[in-house]
Amino acid sequence: MASKADILRENDLPMLGADPSVTYRLGIMGGTFDPIHYGHLVAAEQAFDDLCLDFVVFMPAGRPAFKQGRNVSSGEDRYAMTLLATSDNPHFLASRFEVDRDGITYTAETLRLLREIYPDNVEFYFITGADAISEIVMWRDAADVARLAHLVAATRPGYDLDRAWDTISTSGLDFDVTYLEVPALAISSSYLRDRVCVGQSLRYLTPDPVTGYLHKHGLYGAALSHYGHTPEEGDD
Ligand code: ATP
Ligand code: MG
Repeated sequence: MASKADILRENDLPMLGADPSVTYRLGIMGGTFDPIHYGHLVAAEQAFDDLCLDFVVFMPAGRPAFKQGRNVSSGEDRYAMTLLATSDNPHFLASRFEVDRDGITYTAETLRLLREIYPDNVEFYFITGADAISEIVMWRDAADVARLAHLVAATRPGYDLDRAWDTISTSGLDFDVTYLEVPALAISSSYLRDRVCVGQSLRYLTPDPVTGYLHKHGLYGAALSHYGHTPEEGDD
């Protein structure tokens, strides 16, 4: 049977918790990341700074619970782009933990599994945007999410943090939420997919290696010939 240290290593999860007199703080950034963009990265970096986290682990969902109606890119592609986008930041990690799990991904299940692996002196901080935090009360086993993790709600243009606060506070569940002001980026993965589809550039919206990857793999209707420039009328 794999030891806990093996599971951490295989899933690119940080070794934390060695000193029992210290409390460690692990940030978990969940999402579909189809593709990852600077909105995700800046929210995670702000959470890292403001909450004094030790690491932030980006965990692309295997089969996301809320995106069943849409054709989501493979877990392998979304993981690869997440890895590329996070590789130059020493306190960011990309983990296969959810991608490698069969079935629909539920955050409560992820947190339960992580709780079994990490010792009690490692606290979990689950980072979401303002849109997702309003929905969290409807998630499967929301009470477990509340019990197992602190929540971090990042501002996101177009979404009201006050509304999120109302939803959470009237839910009857004991969520511990920190509301976080992040430099606002009005971008989403959907917006990036739409741009790729019509041949527009992703420069300054996501790290260039992500753009390179999605063009080389033809994701979202991308053409390799359009990589790095906006096509003129009549281009293929
Ligand atoms: P899609 O358009 O496909 O829904 P998305 O941009 O919302 O993609 P997700 O993978 O759904 O990205 O989001 C993962 C997490 O990141 C969610 O908690 C979401 O609220 C948060 N997030 C996404 N974009 C931003 C942003 N621009 N600013 C702050 N948080 C964001
Ligand atoms: Mg979304």
